Amino acid sequence: MNPDDANPTGMTVPQSLAGGRLTIDLGALAANWRYLAELAAGAGTAAVVKGDGYGMGLEPTVGALAAAGCDTFFVALPEEGLRLRAVLRDATVYVLDGLMEGAAATYAGADLRPVLSSPPEVKEWAAFRRANPAAQAALHVDTGMNRMGLGLAEARSLLADASLAESLGLALLISHLACADTPDHPLNGRQLATFREVRAMLPGIPASLANSAGILLGPDYHFDLVRPGIALYGGIAVDGITNPMRPVATLEARILQVRNAAPSETVGYGATEALDRPSRLAILAAGYADGYPRHAGSSDDRPGARVFLHDRPAPLVGRISMDLTTIDVTEVAGARRGDWVELFGPNVPVDEVAEHAGTIGYELLTSLGPRYHRRYVGGPDAT
Ligand SMILES: *Cc1c(COP(=O)(O)O)cnc(C)c1O
Repeated sequence: MNPDDANPTGMTVPQSLAGGRLTIDLGALAANWRYLAELAAGAGTAAVVKGDGYGMGLEPTVGALAAAGCDTFFVALPEEGLRLRAVLRDATVYVLDGLMEGAAATYAGADLRPVLSSPPEVKEWAAFRRANPAAQAALHVDTGMNRMGLGLAEARSLLADASLAESLGLALLISHLACADTPDHPLNGRQLATFREVRAMLPGIPASLANSAGILLGPDYHFDLVRPGIALYGGIAVDGITNPMRPVATLEARILQVRNAAPSETVGYGATEALDRPSRLAILAAGYADGYPRHAGSSDDRPGARVFLHDRPAPLVGRISMDLTTIDVTEVAGARRGDWVELFGPNVPVDEVAEHAGTIGYELLTSLGPRYHRRYVGGPDAT
């Protein structure tokens, strides 16, 4: 099989038959990791590759990051950890969702480290480790998000037992920031102060607090290891800044036909948009079944996202359908059947499309469907 045709679902869509084409730039991914590692110089830089590498495909993603120098990875689920382990034998792998009940031996067998997050997990892991003293883990303490992690009181009472770190094989202490994308938010400073307190209860254990946005909050937040996700994949981590990251994913759809329409005619389901001039419309072979978000479409009341072709932007017209999207190419000379149109990528930031759809780049990237022709460029094997 041509590696260009590889698709993580196991399904292969040749370009000649595909409605959409997803290009993943592993060189940009590696450059983004190096950029963040430099920002966090003094700390180690891991990579968060949950959600199938934020939709980019777990195996090619971790391969490129490892080649760039990354040796520590965070996945959400043990299944993702097993997939990662199959391609990277020596990497350190943490499972953010923690220890699934009864699965400790599977974690240890693949050298996956659970991020322990609740008293029952701590208890189960400590019991398992009595017979498996080589197994290691991380501990997550909540500092103000109320999602994962031991509560502060729970942490204090557990850590009053000075042998706990030893009996759990603790290699890392983590917490997670709720509002790092809003640098002025007062919760950031409060979480930082609380994390320092918790850290003092676990002397000698490396500590990790920052996600992508946390890295940009500055060195106070870096501690021993940073855990970027979205920024690696080119997404914007902090509201209102110019995104310094290189785009990794480029999504394009093919033009199926170009048609003329007259003023006052409407376009698409619900007739939500009426034309106000003689228009040329191009119909694209991708829609919400491919993860191109339906809410990014346009109506007479609200502009939709834009696309890019022949060096020009063009607006969406009307609703996005399951498999089809309509754009206005009246002002794009030369648009024709078979052309590839950028839905997001270097000319249309993924976060711009997300904003039109009332969501975030994270959701767009992790919703990319399996129907695209998927190709990887700029990878470590490329010449
Ligand atoms: C997802 C996640 C990250 C990465 O967050 P980004 O905002 O994508 O950088 C880091 N730590 C934890 C605990 C996470 O769940």
